Amino acid sequence: MSTIFSKIIAGEIPADVVYEDEHCLAFKDINAIAPMHILLIPKKELVNLSDAKELDKELLGHMMLKTKEIADSQGFEDYRVVTNNGAGAQQSVFHLHFHIIGGRSLNWPPG
Ligand code: C5P
Repeated sequence: MSTIFSKIIAGEIPADVVYEDEHCLAFKDINAIAPMHILLIPKKELVNLSDAKELDKELLGHMMLKTKEIADSQGFEDYRVVTNNGAGAQQSVFHLHFHIIGGRSLNWPPG
């Protein structure tokens, strides 16, 4: 079940890409909620974290380690990584994505 993010991966619709490798892609969120708001997505079509399996652990670890490199490239040391897992958690695009958010003071807990 492909989503708009598969079209971004395929280059069929434009995105402001800030990082790419063979496993994942990071691009600026079109509706940024902070000075840095990047979406990091796997190229593999996973619906969300609940859809990930044991065989995906290397991919997920790779992506978590990339968050620092991506935030660094944008000039931010402190950042938050969030994923909304399921409609009840406000997931609206059903292709796994990690929001990397920073550049302003962030509140806790999130709503
Ligand atoms: O976690 P959630 O599924 O709600 O987040 C989806 C995110 O994808 C939103 O922040 C939305 O602004 C972003 N988006 C985007 N480019 C698109 C479609 C959605 O950056 N073409």
